[in-house]
Amino acid sequence: MVARVFRELIGQDEVVAILERAVAAASNSEEDSDTQGAMTHAWLFTGPPGSGRSNAAIAFAAALICPENGCGECNSCRTSLRGSHPDVELIRTEGLSIKVDEIRELIVRSAWAPSSGRHRVVVIEDADRLTETAANALLRGIEEPGSYTVWLLCAPSLGDLLPTIRSRCRHLQLRTPPTSALTRMLVEIDGIDEVMANHAAKASQGHVGRARRIATDEQARRFRHQVLQLPLRLTDVGGCMAAAAELIAASQQESAREIAPKDEAELVALQDAWGAGATGRGLASGASKAIKELEKDQKSRATALNRAFLDRSLLDLASFYRDVLLLQSGATVPLVNDDMEDEVLQLAERTTAEATIGRLDAIMAARRALNFNVAPLLALESMMLSIRVG
Ligand SMILES: [Zn+2]
Repeated sequence: MVARVFRELIGQDEVVAILERAVAAASNSEEDSDTQGAMTHAWLFTGPPGSGRSNAAIAFAAALICPENGCGECNSCRTSLRGSHPDVELIRTEGLSIKVDEIRELIVRSAWAPSSGRHRVVVIEDADRLTETAANALLRGIEEPGSYTVWLLCAPSLGDLLPTIRSRCRHLQLRTPPTSALTRMLVEIDGIDEVMANHAAKASQGHVGRARRIATDEQARRFRHQVLQLPLRLTDVGGCMAAAAELIAASQQESAREIAPKDEAELVALQDAWGAGATGRGLASGASKAIKELEKDQKSRATALNRAFLDRSLLDLASFYRDVLLLQSGATVPLVNDDMEDEVLQLAERTTAEATIGRLDAIMAARRALNFNVAPLLALESMMLSIRVG
């Protein structure tokens, strides 16, 4: 029987089995032969975006804190999962990097004894965004002997971390969950009807958060549809330029929709903290400095999120051409975009498999360019021109 906190880690049975053994070992005061060596104080979760690496780490944190090894219902579990338990710290950066100061403060706190139980757990969701000095500072924290702290790092792949950090962590690789498991999750946990669940699971290409979004958010579905309409419209240079600009604007709109309420809530919280009617020169200048800093952080978060949405759109586009290629090569695997079958078929008939492969390459090249901070409009214009038909 899998502990409740691990149940949402769909399609990750091997990882869950390892984590459960570790939790059992950690809660046993005397080591028995079954769980010997199963627990260690530094872990690294890698996996493709949306495979749930940070969910796995947070569930593990909750299970380590929970007196019942992860019942999912007690106060410890609930507060751990939310990141508000005093012994669980979630380091989430929505910005582009995690700075050394943040890690130094973290290491000071990690020496404190836990408020209850045996562990303090630190989850670093985007360990790939540690600056090099921050990573070196973290290394000293991980190496600290006899610490109460369990470090859970998450990153897309092993190559995203310094070898020195990598070698001190036990590595767990999550995989892309299969469509059937995603569909089941949407039906059983989220109460989505079967047809929509299956569509969302396929369209998400194994990305858990994205599958939920498609299944539950009408506007996200419209945005995806808009992206998938592009291929047939790319017939002349003007159309390509317009499509590039449109894709960027639409991605920005989508990310703003997600981010605006957060920005607003953070600003209100900050204003409250300084006292809305704060007067006096010291207070007023302190508040305005804090607000400026917040705005800077929010801007960096918006940039990162815009980029993520744009990349997501490019993956959707790539999935469209993958479907085209499937039809062109006569394969009988189901289409990712079964709702776009007519458009896929049209393009499959009008173009060759060789050209489709070239288009897929152009999309991947654009993703790499964006990753290297090439101006988005430039990267997308060049991509649209390369995938144009005719
Ligand atoms: Zn619990």
